[in-house]
Amino acid sequence: MNLFTRIVRAVRKYDDENNFTCDICNREVFGNERVCKRCRDALPWNNGYICPFCGRKVNEPGVCLECKERPLGMEKARSAFTHEGEAMRLVLRLKRGSRYLYRTLAELALPLLLKEFEEEDLITFVPMTEKSERKRGYNQSGLFAEELAKRSGKPFAAVAEKKRDTLAQKTLGRREREKNLEGCFTVTDRKAVKGKRVLIVDDTLTTGATTYELACAIKRAGAQRVSALTFTSVQNKTPFGKPPKEK
Ligand SMILES: [Zn+2]
Ligand SMILES: [Zn+2]
Repeated sequence: MNLFTRIVRAVRKYDDENNFTCDICNREVFGNERVCKRCRDALPWNNGYICPFCGRKVNEPGVCLECKERPLGMEKARSAFTHEGEAMRLVLRLKRGSRYLYRTLAELALPLLLKEFEEEDLITFVPMTEKSERKRGYNQSGLFAEELAKRSGKPFAAVAEKKRDTLAQKTLGRREREKNLEGCFTVTDRKAVKGKRVLIVDDTLTTGATTYELACAIKRAGAQRVSALTFTSVQNKTPFGKPPKEK
């Protein structure tokens, strides 16, 4: 290992083990937590009524309109936060170059993983195409998923690849998204998923179409069941409509 690599690794290790300021407000923190108590309490925790299938926030107890119209197609999905405020900002910052924030997401989502996915025995993530990953320099979902696995002690594996880039998903409804994604994921490690209860980790659940498409591919490869955990989820205010625009 050359000196440069050694220094980079040492800095990363130091950074992993030490954190002195809150990742949201930059105030000093104690005890190595990534987010201070004040910011943590102010986050949009998704802990009110949720849809029992997709885990999105709903205004009254019951199944959300999207899931009533079209089932999610996997065991269940859960998200730690609604896609707004500082939770949404953390996701956007992570995607726009603040690579280190994957640890913050993992720290905040770990309690949800332990509470809801005790039985899942393999953690994986939504792959990007080689081209997209090269462009960003990393896959934020992969980093987030691997960190969650590390902190929970669950096995982790990259089991699929994304063959082609799809149209920008943002402006499409759930059905259009599903069509757009059809067949874009290939499971490359069938042995890893066979007979397993697989948990797909991703940053945001928008319509759920991406996760659904990957879940189908993993199930076809022999998984016992597939669930999903995301950091945030978009609450669909209008049934079957377009998801709200990301800011
Ligand atoms: Zn703070
Ligand atoms: Zn739902």
